[in-house]
Amino acid sequence: MILNLKNIKKNFGKTEVLKDVNIELNEGEILTILGASGSGKSTILNLIAGFEEPSSGSISLYGKTVSSRDVFEEPHERNIGFVFQNYALFPHLNVFKNIAFGISKKDINRKNAIVEKMMKLTGLEGLQKRFPHELSGGQQQRVALARTLATSPKLILFDEAFSNVDAILKSKIESELVSIINDSGLSAIFVTHDSKEALSISDKIAYIEKGRVSQFSTPSKIYNEPCSKSVGNFFGKANFIEKDGKTYCIRPEECVVKDDGKIKANIGHSLYLGERQEVELFFDYEDKEYKFTVFVDKNLDLNDKDSLNFDIIWENSIHME
Ligand code: ADP
Ligand code: MG
Repeated sequence: MILNLKNIKKNFGKTEVLKDVNIELNEGEILTILGASGSGKSTILNLIAGFEEPSSGSISLYGKTVSSRDVFEEPHERNIGFVFQNYALFPHLNVFKNIAFGISKKDINRKNAIVEKMMKLTGLEGLQKRFPHELSGGQQQRVALARTLATSPKLILFDEAFSNVDAILKSKIESELVSIINDSGLSAIFVTHDSKEALSISDKIAYIEKGRVSQFSTPSKIYNEPCSKSVGNFFGKANFIEKDGKTYCIRPEECVVKDDGKIKANIGHSLYLGERQEVELFFDYEDKEYKFTVFVDKNLDLNDKDSLNFDIIWENSIHME
């Protein structure tokens, strides 16, 4: 295990920001931390990096305790890379020198090769002589990334690092990053708002609510078996229904519209999305009223219909605690 956070609490003054956080990360894994703004995501990264000390609990890195009641290892001793939201490049150094800055002494004779490799990796070729103010926001962010990668950390933390980069570049950088991480045995933690991004790039996801990890699991598990309504809603369209006294989360794709479907529903608002249509359905089930969002075929003509029939694939759903 590369990282282990055990029963972490963190108070700022009287405010309990983290109440009981437990996170485990194995070598080579990508973890994404998600949660509402102010839920404590950056605080978790700051504790891992050593910019903050936990109020109680312990953190170990590569099997060694780095934060606990008795131990505190300084950030520079932790071999962790950090890419912030507000990249702090050195304004008086050009791109080459910014990237070369953190290269350790043992690698210094390979400096040019490392910087060149990192510039290629992050799509910055030809820009080595530019100064930060001569770069776009996206380019600056890539320099920050290259500078961090050049220090050859074992674990890299990304705090909403790509929120200033446009969507196309963002997904390009991310897919490249994921392959860099996978190829090099690096481990990484991403903090993001973007649930789609989290589902596609992560091995594990931690969803933070009110200072606790409310769910820590794989993308498919968190999508298919959310532990609460808020987790269900966060990771896509979610419908909730009670059956035999238990609440189930039913994804739109688990509702199959067909003429002999057992549930008859009235059609509400519909949205044409190109590859499919998204339709609001109103119906009664076990004496309760529900509104579901379901997907229907893009060619189904809804104009002359008031109602339609569908079935829920219960087998795919596990009830929530
Ligand atoms: P997130 O990154 O999820 O948006 P943060 O970890 O930045 O959340 O912050 C969590 C809470 O802790 C917020 O209410 C924030 O105001 C508070 N907080 C964070 N850092 C400090 C600090 N250094 N001093 C006091 N309060 C802080
Ligand atoms: Mg934050």
